[in-house]
Order: sequence, then C-alpha cells, then structure tokens
Amino acid sequence: MNHSEQLYKDAQQILVGGVNSPVRAFKSVGGTPEFISSAKGPYLHTADNQTLIDYVLSWGPMILGHADPDVIKAIQDTAAKGTSFGTPSALETECAKQIQYFYPHMEKIRLVNSGTEATMSAIRLARGVTKKPILVKFKGCYHGHSDSLLVAAGSGGLTFGSPDSAGVLEDTAKHTVVLNYNDTEGVNALFKEKGDQIAGIILEPITGNMGVITPTDSFLTALRTQCDQHGALLIFDEVMCGFRVTKGSASDLLGVTPDITVLGKVIGGGMPCGAYGASAEIMSHLSPEGQVYQAGTLSGNPVVMAAGIATLKKLRDGEMFKKAEKMTTYLCNGLQDILDEKGLPYRLKQVGTMWCLFFTSEDIQNCDDVCKCDMEGFSKYFHSMLQNGVYLPPSQFEACFMSATHTEKDIEKSLKACKISIQ
Ligand code: PLP
Repeated sequence: MNHSEQLYKDAQQILVGGVNSPVRAFKSVGGTPEFISSAKGPYLHTADNQTLIDYVLSWGPMILGHADPDVIKAIQDTAAKGTSFGTPSALETECAKQIQYFYPHMEKIRLVNSGTEATMSAIRLARGVTKKPILVKFKGCYHGHSDSLLVAAGSGGLTFGSPDSAGVLEDTAKHTVVLNYNDTEGVNALFKEKGDQIAGIILEPITGNMGVITPTDSFLTALRTQCDQHGALLIFDEVMCGFRVTKGSASDLLGVTPDITVLGKVIGGGMPCGAYGASAEIMSHLSPEGQVYQAGTLSGNPVVMAAGIATLKKLRDGEMFKKAEKMTTYLCNGLQDILDEKGLPYRLKQVGTMWCLFFTSEDIQNCDDVCKCDMEGFSKYFHSMLQNGVYLPPSQFEACFMSATHTEKDIEKSLKACKISIQ
C-alpha cells in the first residue's frame, strides 16, 4: 500500500467517502485519489513523492500556477495583521474594483465565500427583483449545490425538474425548469408557454462542467431576447469560465451582456471566494439597501481579499492569460496531431485556457452528447496519464485548465504521455 492509499484509508474512517467534495473521490474513473503534500507552479507533489504536471489546478482557480510568490506574500502579510474582523475593510472595496475592471457591467458587487453561495444568492435576487418563481437552467451546467440548482433531470423539452439529490424537496425542484444546452427552440417554446412566470435563466456561458461546450449564436440570442421581452433576468455563471476563456469576461468574448454575473475560483486566488454583481438598480434590491436578504460572517475576509487582489492585479494586463492560452494551444495542437496520427476521431475543444478531449466522434452540443462518450476509454486514458506523471480531471465531464507557469517542456512531456495513453 502506498502513502496515498494509506491516507485515503485513514480519511475514510472519519470523512464521508474520505473526501470533502465528492468529485475528489475518483468515483467515475476508479482507483485511489492522489493525496497532495505541496504544489508549486504547474506541479503537484504527492504524498508518495511523485511530481505531477497539473491540469486541474484546483478545478480552475490557479491560473497563475500554484503558490505564486506575490499571492503568497499578500496572504502572509495580511494574515499577520489579523484574519477576520467582522467589520468592513478597504480590501473588500479594492477587490471589488479589481473585479469591476474586467466586468464593468457589474456596477455593484457582493462578495461571498464560494461559487455555490454566489449562484444561490443570485437566483434569490432574480426572484426577489422579478417577483416570479421559475428558474431556467440547462442540463449538465453545474451551479453549485444549493437546492434550486441541484436539478439537472427532466428529459429535455418543457418538463419540470425533479430533484437530482435526495433531500431536495419536489416542491423546491418544481420551480426549476431544465432544458438542453443549445436548445433554442426549447427556450422559445418555454417562454411562449410560461414567460410571465420566469424569474431568470442561469447558465455557464461557456461550459466546463460537462466538458467544454460553447453556445450557438441563435441560442444566446434567444436567451437575451426572451429575457428582455418577458422581464426575466439573464444570469451568467462565470465561476469556472471567468478569466479563463479570455483575459476577462466570457460575456465580452460572446458579445452578450447578462443582467447578473456570478464569479468564483480565480477571483479568490486559491482561497474560498465568490461574487455576484449586476446593475446598481438590480443590486439595490439586496439587503441592506433592499428586501432580498443575504449575509456572511466571513464574507470579504481580508486574507481572501488579499489573495484575490494580488491575483487580479497580475491578470490585469492580459500577459498571464496570453501565456497560458499559448501553452493551451500548443498542447491542443500536439494532441490533435496524435489523434490524427492514430486515426482516432475524438473531439477536442479548446476555448482560451480551458480544453476537453471528448471520447466520441460525434458533435458535442449538450449534455446528452457528452453522455454518449466512451467513459471506459476515458478512464483508461486518465489512469495511464497519471502513471506517466500527468494529472487530469478524473471525469469525462470536466474541463482541463492551463496556468501561466506551464512551460513548453511540460507540454512536450504531457504529449509524450498522451501518445502512450490514448487509444
Ligand atoms: N458554478 C460553476 C460554473 C462551477 O463550476 C462551480 C464549481 O465548480 C460552482 C458554481 C460552485 O462553486 P463552489 O464549488 O466554489 O461552491
């Protein structure tokens, strides 16, 4: 038994399933999760003294690489002055301003502790502003684990959602309607039937939680137009794709501005953070100005803010993004060459610093398409990559991420591993 196996066994004695977030348990690929003792730049160092090239990057946040010296210094300096005050600090204003530089349509911002908290609060705000009950989401988009959003079931079309997790009441789930991503006709039909009851639409404008999928122009146009015509609010959940598909916002890249934007991951520089924001008018409905309540003991925590500010400052001129994007393209080109050479018809999708290799020859437009991928083939590929020193997300449904610290040498080593692993 190696160290990770021993540590996993110990963890299972006290932590449910040995983990604090289910996807870490390797359920979809099998085997034992790697226990990590430290990380630096593009590398994870495991409890078994193995060094892995990391393309998970804490599920996206570590765009500057692990333990960036400026971020670590900001954390250390700030922590030395006290870790929580429960009163306002100037760091919160500064962090919000740094976010607003990239997201000018977020005229007012609320900082919270996680992406889940931010999306949950954003939909409460949408319902509070519009005074309507229905939330529309898309199958395969993940928006955290709050009750209204843990609904991904419903066989497309106009069916009302049923709970996707035990403990979510039918009564709650029935206010969430699930449609297929890129289903323009479904969106139009739903608004025709129930437009007067719809508070908002939430989506990942570029998805990461069913692999990387982009929206069609007609789909995006329908979302914006239907919301405008029916007084519903369009919510872009950029927790994952924010700062990753372009230097700043996905909405910039797509040319569609949402009413409410939700962020997480990168804005905390590896510390627990989330944010949501909108026009000053919409945000004025939020407590203490308005009637929609949302609060948090540790929201805007100084140490988290310091990490976020240091990260966002380094992203400001776009050089770090460019570096990471260049390496992503280098990797994806190499990967495509390997696929071509081996005559494998798999689909490779890259947007900015995110990418995904789908084990299918079919076009990928939505979650049902991803479900048709060869999961066993992915599993084998994942484990072989790991054995060859490359850490990928342990699921076909996840995106891979690049950091600004990955080098050509890392990419070449990763491609060598791909050549051995991909079948
Ligand atoms: N929204 C999206 C798009 C996400 O990818 C995630 C997490 O992966 C969340 C929301 C939830 O964020 P958190 O895990 O910080 O609660």
